[in-house]
Amino acid sequence: TPRVFSGIQPSGDLHLGNYLGAIRRFVPLQETHETIYCVVDMHAITVRQEPDDLRRATREVAAAFIAAGVDPKRSIVFNQSQVIQHAELAWVFNCVARMGWMARMTQFKDKAGKNSENVSLGLFAYPSLMAADILLYKATHVPVGDDQKQHLELTRDIAIKFNNDYRDSIAAQNAGDDEGAFFPVTEPLIAGPATRIMSLRDGTKKMSKSDPSDQSRISLLDDADAIAKKIKKATTDPAELPHDVEGLASRPEADNLVGIYAALSDKTKAEVLAEFGGQGWGKFKPALADLAVAQLAPMAGEMRRLIDDSETIDAILRDGAERARAIAEATMVDVRSIVGFIR
Ligand code: ATP
Ligand code: MG
Repeated sequence: TPRVFSGIQPSGDLHLGNYLGAIRRFVPLQETHETIYCVVDMHAITVRQEPDDLRRATREVAAAFIAAGVDPKRSIVFNQSQVIQHAELAWVFNCVARMGWMARMTQFKDKAGKNSENVSLGLFAYPSLMAADILLYKATHVPVGDDQKQHLELTRDIAIKFNNDYRDSIAAQNAGDDEGAFFPVTEPLIAGPATRIMSLRDGTKKMSKSDPSDQSRISLLDDADAIAKKIKKATTDPAELPHDVEGLASRPEADNLVGIYAALSDKTKAEVLAEFGGQGWGKFKPALADLAVAQLAPMAGEMRRLIDDSETIDAILRDGAERARAIAEATMVDVRSIVGFIR
C-alpha cells in the first residue's frame, strides 16, 4: 500500500494554516494509505525553544492530530526524537546533499534573514533531516502546505542522488526495486483552496507559528472571542468583495479571507463570491468569524481535554514511536550496509 508521512513542528501555537494546509488533510488519507504523522521536535530546536515550551507544544501537536480525527491505532503518531534513526539517516543525507542545494532554500533565507552567520547549523541542514523523516519510511506521498514544495523537491533530489551514488552497492545488497532504486521518489500532495494561508496582518506573508505577532494568526486554541476580534482587525483594502475570482487578483488580503471561508465551508472561492460579491467587510468578516468558530471550537475543546491528560498523550507517542522504529530500523539495516558501515 502507498505510504504517507507528514510532520508538524512543535515550535509555537498551532494555527489555521497548519490545520487547513496539513492536519485536516491527514484524516481522509487514513482510508487509502498507510499513514505516519510525526511531531518533529528535532526540527523545532533548529531555533531556540524553552524545554518546557517544547514539551507543551509537542503534546499540543499530538492532541491536534487526534482532535482533528487522526486515529492513533490506525495511524502511527509519534515524536521524532524517540526514533533516533531520523538523526542517523539525516547524517548520511548531509553527506549526499550539496551545500549549493541547501543554500537555495527560500525557507532558510526567510528564517535566517540578513544575519545568516548567526543562525544554527541545524537550520541550514533542516531539509536534509526532513528528507530523512520521509525516506526512512520510504513514504510515497507527503501532504503539506505550499511552503514545503521546495523542500520536497530537495527530498526527491536526495533520493535520486543516493540511488545513483550507491547504485552498485544497492545491487550488491539486493536492496533495490525493479529499477535498482533503494529510495522512492516521493510525490507531494499539495491541493485544495488552502495550501497557503496568509498572515492576517500582511497578505504577502504566510501565517506562521514563528511570527512574533499573535494577531497574525488564528490559533487552534483561540476562544470564540479571540477569533472574532482577530478577523475583525484583519488587514483588508477598503473595496467591497468582487463578484468573481478574477476580481481577487492583486488583492492578497481579500483573496486570503475568501480562501479561508471557502476552505472552512468546503466551497470554491467562486461559490463564496456568488454569495458575498458586492458586499462590504462589515458583512463578510462576522460571517467568516462565525464559520471559523463553528469549525474550530469543537476541536479546541477536544484538544484541551487531551492536553490535560498528558500521560495518555505520552503513552500514544511512545506506542507510535515503537511502531515507527520497527520500520525505520529495517531501512537503516539496509542503508548501513549499502554505505559500507560494518556491523
Ligand atoms: P514555523 O513558523 O515554526 O515554521 P509553521 O507555521 O510554518 O511554523 P510548520 O510546522 O513549519 O508550521 O509546518 C507544518 C505544516 O503546516 C506543513 O505542512 C506546512 O506546509 C503547513 N503550513 C504551515 N503554514 C501554513 C500556511 N500558512 N498555510 C498552509 N499550510 C501551512
Ligand atoms: Mg514552517
